[in-house]
Amino acid sequence: MGADPATSVVNGDKLHHSLRNLYVRGGSSFTMGSTANPSLTIAAVSLRSARRGVGPRR
Ligand SMILES: Cc1cc2nc3c(=O)[nH]c(=O)nc-3n(C[C@H](O)[C@H](O)[C@H](O)COP(=O)(O)OP(=O)(O)OC[C@H]3O[C@@H](n4cnc5c(N)ncnc54)[C@H](O)[C@@H]3O)c2cc1C
Repeated sequence: MGADPATSVVNGDKLHHSLRNLYVRGGSSFTMGSTANPSLTIAAVSLRSARRGVGPRR
């Protein structure tokens, strides 16, 4: 996850840099292992991604 397509697969909204109808929601797109008990963080970031995905593509 990151802003630069050269160094990341998805942006901060979990939207794929090239495939603009693909979101990768879940811990797999974290840039590093999170702290213990990551499920709530994964859910929060995924819910934010889902909300942002409803509107027009950026
Ligand atoms: C033993 C254990 C205990 C844990 N306890 C806690 C805890 O107490 N609190 C906490 O916050 N976190 C805990 N975690 C961590 C937490 O479970 C994970 O971080 C979290 O589930 C990751 O969520 P995810 O959605 O990224 O991936 P996952 O929950 O792994 O979901 C990935 C999904 O993709 C599916 N899938 C895989 N390949 C394919 C495919 N090719 N096609 C279609 N579907 C596919 C899988 O079946 C799965 O349903 C624990 C983990 C383990 C292993």
